Amino acid sequence: MQMLDKLAAITGAAHVLTGDDVVKYSADWTDNYHWSPLAVVRPHSTEEVSAILNLANETNTPVVPVAGNTGLNGGTSADGALMLSLERMNSIREIRPDARIAVVEAGVVLSQLHDAAEEHDLIFPLYFGARGSAMIGGVLSTNAGGSNVLRYGSTRHLCLGVEVVLADGRVMNLMSELHKDNSGFDLKDLMIGAEGTLGIITGAVMKLMPKPITYATAMVAAPDLEASLVLLNRLQSATGGMVEAFEFMPRIYMDTLKAMFPETREPFDDKYEVNILVEIATTQPGMATPGENGEVPLTRALEDTLSELSQDGLAIDAVIAQNEGQRREMWDRRERAGEVLLSTKPLVNHDVSVPVDKVATFLQRMTQKLAEIDVSAQQCTVSHLGDGNIHYAVWPSTENKDTHFAITEAVDDVALDLGGSFSAEHGIGLSKLDSMARRKDQIALQMMHAVKLAFDPKGLLNPGKVLPPL
Ligand SMILES: Cc1cc2nc3c(=O)[nH]c(=O)nc-3n(C[C@H](O)[C@H](O)[C@H](O)COP(=O)(O)OP(=O)(O)OC[C@H]3O[C@@H](n4cnc5c(N)ncnc54)[C@H](O)[C@@H]3O)c2cc1C
Repeated sequence: MQMLDKLAAITGAAHVLTGDDVVKYSADWTDNYHWSPLAVVRPHSTEEVSAILNLANETNTPVVPVAGNTGLNGGTSADGALMLSLERMNSIREIRPDARIAVVEAGVVLSQLHDAAEEHDLIFPLYFGARGSAMIGGVLSTNAGGSNVLRYGSTRHLCLGVEVVLADGRVMNLMSELHKDNSGFDLKDLMIGAEGTLGIITGAVMKLMPKPITYATAMVAAPDLEASLVLLNRLQSATGGMVEAFEFMPRIYMDTLKAMFPETREPFDDKYEVNILVEIATTQPGMATPGENGEVPLTRALEDTLSELSQDGLAIDAVIAQNEGQRREMWDRRERAGEVLLSTKPLVNHDVSVPVDKVATFLQRMTQKLAEIDVSAQQCTVSHLGDGNIHYAVWPSTENKDTHFAITEAVDDVALDLGGSFSAEHGIGLSKLDSMARRKDQIALQMMHAVKLAFDPKGLLNPGKVLPPL
């Protein structure tokens, strides 16, 4: 039997796609990567995934897993490979509110889990613009971050267990529901962030958190990034760590957003360089219930901190959302960043992290370096400022690849010099292989290759991703 017939025997012919049916799987969200897969197979169960990988192993067929295909680094690029889509494995097996866990299949869409958790007055606290498409298998495999990392951690911190199908089809059951489990090497954590190079995640146990009763959300204009850090730290102290999100949008972003979406309202009457979206939230009724004067204590805490900062000259303008509509408007501005950055080409994009008190220094140094490399280039740095993650995007004045390379070199240099990383939350995929080769500790790279060999001796799982050749 031919390969496709054998696949059809596993999943049914309707779930082995070829020709025009694979077009939507043949490019990434950024449109930077295009490929022609051998076929796309859409299994419905762990057993089917196991049979497919067993077949791929016997026939030496490379396999690239795909979940929501919203990754930003070419991780699902699959020229000539079999793409294994998790989209039909989309059931929430169980939610146990008392244990604060959800047991899910890898194809559950992030927003599907959000809705399911809310039915139990709980949240799954991983939020970002692509939540309507990204799936649990994808967010685990990239260890996605998003806007709420400073309060809840990244996907790794929200996962208790995983089920993984290995390259030869064996199923590794690590579906722990435990908060403490020191039974040998932590293979779960090895699978998280591995981008499908070590195994295919088919199920997971995810943590749920209490649902905030009230949010207080504001746009704040600060004189500079150092002042914003004071705002963040004072708010954390004033509220006992209730800051959920702290996002930075520079002037150039606001202007480009407005040009692209003219209906977007500016947050302030005046225009500022440093625009911060800050959100705090509480699960405590005492902080959420209006007092006799009608004030909500949580909102009061935000107002008081802002007013203190204003007196100290550390906040120059602020507007607090008065209802859910205004809060949504603030978030919409921020969550359009992906579309806005991609609107202008060429784009040299980076996803670096530095210690939170080094963000301003990073940007100062990069402004200087960028001017030396390409005096007409523009930088647009929408950032998860609260956790030090800078999406440092550059619109160079030229298509010249050497210039683009020099910009990335400079970004990596400055980030690493400040104790940062060239890869914060989007993973490596194809786009950061150069940085991985040049910047990652060489011994660490050798050990990663050894791990890859142990899990995938034939190199069939998502080949060419994450690990540059030694
Ligand atoms: C508008 C927009 C906003 C975004 N904002 C953020 C953000 O704020 N923070 C952030 O971290 N990311 C962000 N991203 C990036 C992206 O959404 C995340 O990387 C997300 O985790 C990818 O999930 P996915 O389901 O689309 O995975 P895919 O893109 O399908 O896959 C990602 C990688 O994981 C592998 N993979 C997929 N499923 C499995 C599996 N079951 N087992 C093993 N490997 C698998 C794939 O081969 C690929 O290498 C954003 C993307 C967009 C388009």
